Amino acid sequence: MSLCALNGEIMPLEEARISPMDRGFLFGDGVYEVLACVGGRIRAASLHRARLQQSLAAIALDVSVDAVFNDLQRVLEASGIQDAKLYVQVTRGPVSVREHSFPSVVEPTVFLSVSPFTVRQLEPVSALVREDIRWRRNAIKSTSLLANVLLQQEAKALGAGEAILHRDQWVTEASTSNVFMLKDRALVTPPLSNDILPGITRHLVLELAHDLGLGVNETPVSVDELASAETLFVSSSTRGLMPIDRLEPGGQVGQGGVHSEFEALASRYDELLHEHP
Ligand code: PLP
Repeated sequence: MSLCALNGEIMPLEEARISPMDRGFLFGDGVYEVLACVGGRIRAASLHRARLQQSLAAIALDVSVDAVFNDLQRVLEASGIQDAKLYVQVTRGPVSVREHSFPSVVEPTVFLSVSPFTVRQLEPVSALVREDIRWRRNAIKSTSLLANVLLQQEAKALGAGEAILHRDQWVTEASTSNVFMLKDRALVTPPLSNDILPGITRHLVLELAHDLGLGVNETPVSVDELASAETLFVSSSTRGLMPIDRLEPGGQVGQGGVHSEFEALASRYDELLHEHP
């Protein structure tokens, strides 16, 4: 039985009910976080907390992030699951009339769920390379994910593991992850901007790169450069560091396979995930 918390009340997931007039349902008017919990410890909780705060502020939704994270800890403990995927969604709540503008009184809906999950290093996958068809505020972790859904579905239908996105010739990120190239002993990744989500894993990877003596170059990356990476990989809290060995269009990445520096980075990331305070 999976547990969730709805507006602070812990209950079996099957029993949770929200109104069809919830603005999250009607408009995708909400923000979310996905966190990994390893050995009972939520990974990088402070970074997720700060990002949720920023997302809420960006959509002018006033909710106590401390209360959300207290409830998250409570539902996690109640579940007894040690290795879990945690989902946090906060919406602008139910309304009596469907109107785009905000209601005068907002009663946010806070939905938290816990499910068993293990973060593991994945085998290389291929990636589609596609135009970034999303809106222009991608630093907000919004629940309005239709473009990401369509892109992921296309990737799946064509047997690819991800879709790497670009605006004009510049890589933004992937449909569910951030993009990195490992090249000449340096990590190269597009800089933070409105075009990408400030990934928590991205942040941790950049920190690890410093520890491992790799250079870090946060700079625009063109689509044409991708195939010349020694290792191309994407990062996210749920997929960890996932190498991309083929691009469609674009062909093989680097020499095929993954570079030893990527292996060092990935195993250091794995250790970091399992380190306890
Ligand atoms: N970019 C997008 C569009 C995402 O959906 C995600 C994760 O879901 C990421 C990047 C990676 O973010 P994080 O490392 O915080 O999981």
